Amino acid sequence: MKVLVAVKRVLDYNVKARVKADKSGIELANVKMSMNPFDEIAIEEALRIKEAGKAEEVIAVSIGPSQSQETIRTALAMGADRGILIETDDEVQPLAVAKLLKHVAEKEEPGLLIVGKQAIDDDANQTGQMYSAITGWPQATFASKVEFEGDGLKVTREVDSGLESIQVAMPAVITTDLRLNEPRYAKLPNIMKAKKKPLEVIALADTGVSIETGLKTVEVNEPEEREAGIIVKSVDELVDRLRNEAKVI
Ligand code: AMP
Repeated sequence: MKVLVAVKRVLDYNVKARVKADKSGIELANVKMSMNPFDEIAIEEALRIKEAGKAEEVIAVSIGPSQSQETIRTALAMGADRGILIETDDEVQPLAVAKLLKHVAEKEEPGLLIVGKQAIDDDANQTGQMYSAITGWPQATFASKVEFEGDGLKVTREVDSGLESIQVAMPAVITTDLRLNEPRYAKLPNIMKAKKKPLEVIALADTGVSIETGLKTVEVNEPEEREAGIIVKSVDELVDRLRNEAKVI
């Protein structure tokens, strides 16, 4: 079985996002970019499945500009076997990502697609669900545990009320939650080896998939500055301030 993993190149989670002067989006020039953290978890889970003898190959797929090859190389350094980049400089919305992943899956025929529960740049949380909708594959979202059971999977999901267990037939799509695993670091020798692993670059135009969208970003703004907090010396002072200044009690 092959496992396909979607990895997105995003602004590193340690970098403070700055809005571009023309308010058209976030400044991405000359800032550190990394693999979306939920996708690191997705790669880790795929590697563990392979190491447990349940899969033969882990393929990392990214959709984005040429620099996304670095993100794929990180996945290869962690242990993925090969990478596929669908190259485009255009903004790609979740539905188009889902369509492009479907395009790759039709060729590769994986038993499993693992994606992050959300990309930390746009926080859409849509790609896995949309992929399931357009392919008919069962979805197990917000996974915190994945176990093989019979011909399918038992997936523990993080839901508001606690943990929910579901069974899904394969092929299936899984979206990863934070507690699924702790991703490994790529070791230096593996970073060197990753340079030689196969990475196929496909031009978006050659996929025949349209990324047209009905969405248009009108304007991006910085969040409003919050007032600094204060430390009160006693409960009496807290109550007094809540009553007389904040007027909330
Ligand atoms: P989203 O629905 O945009 O929050 O993204 C959820 C997940 O879909 C991410 O964690 C990735 O695994 C995958 N994904 C979204 N956009 C891309 C992309 N451009 N390239 C590769 N994977 C992506």
